[in-house]
Amino acid sequence: MDWMIQTPEETGLFAKKLASFLKRGDVISLIGDLGVGKTTLTQFLAKEFGVTEQVTSPTFQLVYSYEGNLPFHHLDLYRLESPEEVEALDIDMLFYPDGITVIEWAEKADGYLPRHMIELYLERTENDVRVFHIYGNNPREQQLIGEYRENS
Ligand code: ADP
Ligand code: MG
Repeated sequence: MDWMIQTPEETGLFAKKLASFLKRGDVISLIGDLGVGKTTLTQFLAKEFGVTEQVTSPTFQLVYSYEGNLPFHHLDLYRLESPEEVEALDIDMLFYPDGITVIEWAEKADGYLPRHMIELYLERTENDVRVFHIYGNNPREQQLIGEYRENS
């Protein structure tokens, strides 16, 4: 399923809708190049889950956890040099959360990742339109796509 996103405001609307279908334990992997809008989407999602603190890109830390209506974890693994480095993190808490986890550059932790993440691909076209895409490769993604279809 595809979504065309023209502005940050539309990212906000997308986040609102997506958040309404997310539930405790969901791990969302945001896949796309630098500057495509992963952190922006994470910020809007955090807001939807009642996080009032400003969510920034975790530059010096791989992860920041926030208390909203649920625990909200934000990982940015861009600086990971090898997958084993995630062993230093509380993987149980982050990858099997009692809340929501959003991961940028999850692919860098290959081998340690939870099996049923929601993978959201973000791309930017030459006209500066963003295309967000979910393939529906696992049951959780298929369920989410089904809920989107029923509610749009
Ligand atoms: P990433 O985390 O993928 O590197 P960011 O979320 O930091 O990307 O966004 C990079 C830049 O793109 C920011 O200046 C942001 O304001 C802008 N941006 C993000 N989403 C959109 C959007 N939907 N439309 C236009 N610009 C956007
Ligand atoms: Mg980012």
